[in-house]
Amino acid sequence: MSTSVIASAVGGPSLSQERRLVTAIPGPASEALLARKAEAVAAGVGHTVPIQAVAAGGGVVVDVDGNSLIDLGSGIAVTTVGNAHPAVVAAVQAQVAQFTHTCFMISPYESYVAVAEALNRLAPGDHAKKSALFNSGAEAVENAVKIARKATGRQAVVAFDHAYHGRTNLTMALTAKSMPYKSGFGPFASEVYRAPMSYPFRDGLSGADAAATAILLMEKQIGADNLAAVIIEPIQGEGGFIVPADGFLPALAEWCRAHGVVFIADEVQTGFTRTGAMFASELFGIVPDLITTAKGIAGGLPLAAVTGRADLMDAAHLGGLGGTYGGNPVACAAALAAIEVFETEDLSSRARALGEILFARLHSIQAADPRVGDVRGRGAMVAAEFIDPTTGAPDAALAGAVAKAAIAEGVIVLTCGTYGNVIRFLPPLSIPDALLEEGLDVVAAALAAA
Ligand SMILES: *Cc1c(COP(=O)(O)O)cnc(C)c1O
Repeated sequence: MSTSVIASAVGGPSLSQERRLVTAIPGPASEALLARKAEAVAAGVGHTVPIQAVAAGGGVVVDVDGNSLIDLGSGIAVTTVGNAHPAVVAAVQAQVAQFTHTCFMISPYESYVAVAEALNRLAPGDHAKKSALFNSGAEAVENAVKIARKATGRQAVVAFDHAYHGRTNLTMALTAKSMPYKSGFGPFASEVYRAPMSYPFRDGLSGADAAATAILLMEKQIGADNLAAVIIEPIQGEGGFIVPADGFLPALAEWCRAHGVVFIADEVQTGFTRTGAMFASELFGIVPDLITTAKGIAGGLPLAAVTGRADLMDAAHLGGLGGTYGGNPVACAAALAAIEVFETEDLSSRARALGEILFARLHSIQAADPRVGDVRGRGAMVAAEFIDPTTGAPDAALAGAVAKAAIAEGVIVLTCGTYGNVIRFLPPLSIPDALLEEGLDVVAAALAAA
């Protein structure tokens, strides 16, 4: 494709909604870019899908060679409203022509305040809430911990097995998995402790029993008096889409409340209708003290937030929170547009409808193939865990082979999990049903052939 065609490529829902392979993946033009990437970009920055993207929207990503791939990843749960959603595009274009930056800490503007108001209204619980805006999920997590420490005067923080909270120093410490996130990058932040996660497929424990085990560890190894915060993903993302057993999260939240420990729900991956509710906390009946958000918040623009109890949010002294770009006006304009789409188009219902398609298909695949050990998730956040059927041991090679074969056939899927043996499905909620069905056909065929 010529450079002028690439330059004029327009994404969004008007893109032809089809899987179309006109070359092998990668095609020659994509291959040329990947060669330049290898020369120019640090080796630590990987890529899952070997293409040069030029446009995306609805349920597809189009590459420079003219291939159209079905998108079951949403750029890691980011383009929940759809890539290049027209409302997001219009809001960004209008804002970028008006002003691009003042720094909210220098000259405030309305859109930041409006995003905070929307988050305070949407986050679980009827109590008084406040928000602060940042650039990335990791930065939101760092700030939630800062706020919890300042508010409690305590230092210790508990995170869980299989947790993922980011790649900065404190969030590496909170993250469980060494390779690739932590190995060789220490020393890590201190006063971070790890508790066992409820993982029904592997621990067989009830939610109450799993919570009792975690609480005993916190009481005996740390002591509630030293504990500033417990941070947990209501459904773990990178760790393998682990849905805790019923009762686990409410028991933890209740223990935290009884002991003055700040309960932080990291909803960076689960937030904004992805799981069939505005926030996954609602699915489990919990009201976190603080929630961290990012990914789906702004239709692809970098934005993140901490939202929670006003008394906690106000604990940090004047000037103690902020950052040069946090709550950038272009990202805030995108977020206001995306939030309006979440609400007016009732994307929670859409996520549940896509979830029905995902679960029906994956359960039927599982019924015929014992290598699919578990199918789990909520809404449009669903995964399959692959195992050796005789031992139950994780089968990362199988998950990797199926994902690779699906990508070669034009379907973008991502793997995850502590053991690397999980394939996750995170379609944009703008994907047509037929395209999701076709993507799952391709995955099923790849599994059958593996
Ligand atoms: C992705 C993710 C993060 C980190 O977000 P970044 O924007 O990549 O810094 C933190 N927590 C969870 C649960 C995530 O999925």
